[in-house]
Amino acid sequence: MDTSFEEAGAAASGPEPTDPPAADATSGAVATDTVAADAVAASAAATEAPAPAAVPNPSAAPDATAAPSPSATEATPATATATGEAAEGTETGETADSAGSAATAAAGAPTEATPAPTAPPVPRPAAAPTSLSPSRAGDFMQCPLLYRFRVIDRLPEKPSEAATRGTLVHAVLERLFDAPAGERTAPRARALVPGQWDRLRESRPELAELFADDPDGQRLTRWLGEAERLVERWFTLEDPTRLEPAERELFVEAELESGPRLRGIIDRVDVAPTGEVRIVDYKTGKAPRPEYAEGALFQMKFYALVVWRLKGVVPRRLQLVYLGSGEVRTYDPVLADLERVERRLRALWDAICEATESGEWRPRPTKLCGWCDHQAHCPEFGGTPPPYPLPVRAREAGGVPQGRMGAD
Ligand code: SF4
Repeated sequence: MDTSFEEAGAAASGPEPTDPPAADATSGAVATDTVAADAVAASAAATEAPAPAAVPNPSAAPDATAAPSPSATEATPATATATGEAAEGTETGETADSAGSAATAAAGAPTEATPAPTAPPVPRPAAAPTSLSPSRAGDFMQCPLLYRFRVIDRLPEKPSEAATRGTLVHAVLERLFDAPAGERTAPRARALVPGQWDRLRESRPELAELFADDPDGQRLTRWLGEAERLVERWFTLEDPTRLEPAERELFVEAELESGPRLRGIIDRVDVAPTGEVRIVDYKTGKAPRPEYAEGALFQMKFYALVVWRLKGVVPRRLQLVYLGSGEVRTYDPVLADLERVERRLRALWDAICEATESGEWRPRPTKLCGWCDHQAHCPEFGGTPPPYPLPVRAREAGGVPQGRMGAD
């Protein structure tokens, strides 16, 4: 087992990764030096690379490897493509896990603090995209029109129980590390759930509608219980008493030459005494089948690319912690992985810029449309998009080629 990111003599209590440990991976105290606060994280689905090694947990649910579905991925289609998000990700359409990171970063102040009063959200004017996060990259790859609705039109989306639970669980896991190592226990983590839920509601008043039709509070009680179980399961996968994260909810941003600006929020960064970096992302959904795992891995490589661009260091390990099914998946990237992801992101950004200028945003219907909040505006479902709010470049003779925006 690679114990270089855990304290000396300690090993994560979770299952061992099936991929071989690094030759120089040794046990040792966790370094307290940090990855720079501007280290960037991002991820994307790289089809070139092998899937990360699945590490089944004995307690994993039987359907842990089910194909992506609302239950399998916990929230929206984009769940398969991204988690930690930055400012872009705090726009509409956040996924369970990405919303978790963003909201935790925004609202996860020390528990003693009193949240500032919040005003109802004011719609922001439409604007051309200037940056790319893992979630939004995933949106465009899934459906260019969905990307337009979320990034250009900024259409509102309803909060979901699954996405909000992901936000809550992320907040709890993040806050738990405030406690001294020896006190990071499962009971303590469970006890954080109600308070973090209160904080979340205070910071995001729109969440009140989630349980507006639950006068006796039974559904809320069940929902909070599910959040507690997810938090508790984490202790079967990692041992926080033996971890000292270098960073939690780390906002990272880096600009590629000729664009785009990549940004995101990494759930956790561990730095070994050797200086090796491990990027960790929590997923409150179940681990996908290997054939659907590329989305999450792309996200992690996105993060790794940003860290590499910022620090000149290729992260030693990318680690996905699936709380829904009790699995840890790891991938040890090499430079060629990151170069491929960078090329792919450049191509994706070119396609986004082309669509932004032309106003041609093609819908791409898939089974994931079932979780899209925008069917009423989607031509595939008899809807009409709102008027395009940005200037459109004049069409050349013959028109703009269709299919130009496809990321594949
Ligand atoms: S409903 Fe329309 S906009 Fe939404 S994902 Fe499907 S094709 Fe795209």
